[in-house]
Formats: sequence, C-alpha cells, structure tokens
Amino acid sequence: MSFKNSKKKALRLMPIVWIGRAIGHTPSVLLRKLVNDENKVMVKLEFMNPSGSIKDRPALFMIKKAEEEGLLKEGSTIVEPSSGNTAISLAMLAAARGYKMVAVVPKTTSSNKIKMLKALGARVIFSESGVPLGHPEHHYTKAVRLAKENGWVMLDQYRNEANVRAHYETTGPELHAQAIQLMGGLDAFVAGVGTGGTILGIGKYLKEVKEDVRVIAVVPSNTLISKFLGLNGDRTFHSIEGLTAMPVSSLLRKYRHLIDEVIEISDNEALETMKFLASREGIMGGLSCGANVAASLKLAREGIRVATVCPDGLIRYLDRLEL
Ligand code: PMP
Repeated sequence: MSFKNSKKKALRLMPIVWIGRAIGHTPSVLLRKLVNDENKVMVKLEFMNPSGSIKDRPALFMIKKAEEEGLLKEGSTIVEPSSGNTAISLAMLAAARGYKMVAVVPKTTSSNKIKMLKALGARVIFSESGVPLGHPEHHYTKAVRLAKENGWVMLDQYRNEANVRAHYETTGPELHAQAIQLMGGLDAFVAGVGTGGTILGIGKYLKEVKEDVRVIAVVPSNTLISKFLGLNGDRTFHSIEGLTAMPVSSLLRKYRHLIDEVIEISDNEALETMKFLASREGIMGGLSCGANVAASLKLAREGIRVATVCPDGLIRYLDRLEL
C-alpha cells in the first residue's frame, strides 16, 4: 500500500465526538490452541470497549433513555449497585455528561476496579458480599435506599429494559455477523449471567435470525442461581466476579424462556481458563471470560460452532494472580 493511499484511508475515519461514540464494534477472534482442528470457538472481545467492559453498552443505553425521559438532568446524581463494571461504565459516561456518580459495590470487589471508579470521580460506597437480597447491606437493597433518601437516580440494570435492548440492538447483530465471517455461522451462544442483559439481549436477537440456536447460560457451580435455572445449589458466594450467585434480576425472571441450557463452572475452572487464555492464546480476558470459555470448550467437543464473549479484561484481576 502506498503512503498516499494510507493517508486517504486515515482521512476516512469517523470523527468520535464524545466517548459514548467509541462504545461497541468490538472484534471477535477464534481460539486456535485450546481447541483441536474440528472444534470452533469464537470469542468477542468486549474488554475493547472504552472503559474496558461489555457494560459500556447497557450503561450508554440506560443513560440515553433516562435523558430522553427527563429523569437525568444537569446536576443529577446517578447511584447504581454493581459488581464494579456497570459502575465504571456509568462513571465514565457520567464524567463526560456532567453527572455525579455514586457506586454501591460489594466489599470483595477487586481493588483495581475501586481505583478506576475513584479516578473517574465516582464516590464508592461498600456493601456486604453474600448477604441475601432484602438485607440492608445487600448492594441492591442499599442502593435503592440511598436513591430514595437522597433523590438520586438509580438506573437499575437489573430491571431496566434498556440493558437487554443494548445487547439486542448492538452486541447481538455484531456477534452474529462475525460468527458468519469466522465460522460460517454458529450453533450455540454461551454467556455468564449477572443481570442477564447479555445472554437475554444477544439470545433474543440470535433466536430471531436462527431459530435453532442454543442459548446457554454459565453459572457459578452450586449457587442459588444454579437452582433458579433448574440445577441444584445453595451457595450465595463465589469468586467469578461479574456473575451472580443469586437471581436478583427481574429481567431474568421475565425473559427466562430465552435460556435453553445451563452449564456450571467452578471458581477454579474460571481462574485456570483465564490464565490459559492469556498464556496460550494471548487473549487477555477476565474471570467471567474464563468461565465463558471453559463452558464453550466443553460444548465445542460436541463438534458444534460456539460463540461467547469476554465481558472484561485480565488487567482488572491482576491481584488474583500469583506471578
Ligand atoms: N462478566 C462481568 C465481568 C460482568 O461485569 C458482568 C456484569 N455484571 C457479567 C459478566 C454478566 O453480564 P450481564 O449483567 O449482562 O448478565
């Protein structure tokens, strides 16, 4: 390519007016070392969103909706219960839009995420981990109370349809097009469940374009969410950050029918697969990416084409690695 041509190409780049426009259009890659020649696993690299996680997508959709409805105005404060990533995405967009941000996060949230929140100008309030919904120290219950007491706006990713819509309108179509390019299509889509936004939004889109696609939820083994989805379990705690141990989300209850199958992954499988992804594939995914890929590898052994997402990146979990 001549210098002249490359200059022309650069000039054609879309100007990005504000950080919200940099969200989405993430690349996907095929696994090459952790699979054999017959098995196909495609991973969509959602850590390439501007704040480093898939949650930039629903955060943008929820903020836009709240602005359109007049709920968010100049000087508004946003409060959100989050395992960290949604709060980081909201804090990034709040900084750009001029809102204040309060994050209610479980005290076990990794220190890198807390530092990022603070760097983005958010206030961080801690909640207890492993306590049941309704307990005053549960992060959801605590955020609802703080919103009421202070007149803050809680966008509520567990209830907000814009969370599912973000994935239905953006992640789903992108992933489907990439699966056609890289694998000639897909037979199963695999994703871990937090609010359920990812699996429900992408699952809904995929079922519309490919009726027989299998939509498969990944849950931490022996947890209450496992039980909710038809397996067994009563654990309320696990260490796959971003996935839930308890069925808190009303979105999940409403769209439960979109999930066809469930795979359990242990904390250790998620951690080990995260490490293998980095050292064998050069893919710097986080813990839930490890869980998603561990489940995808089991499925791919059936000889089917599997697509999944890396919700966030390894950099958020460096403190979990003994190096
Ligand atoms: N992985 C990570 C790292 C996350 O932060 C989240 C969201 N909490 C998920 C997976 C699950 O995504 P969703 O809320 O869309 O189910």
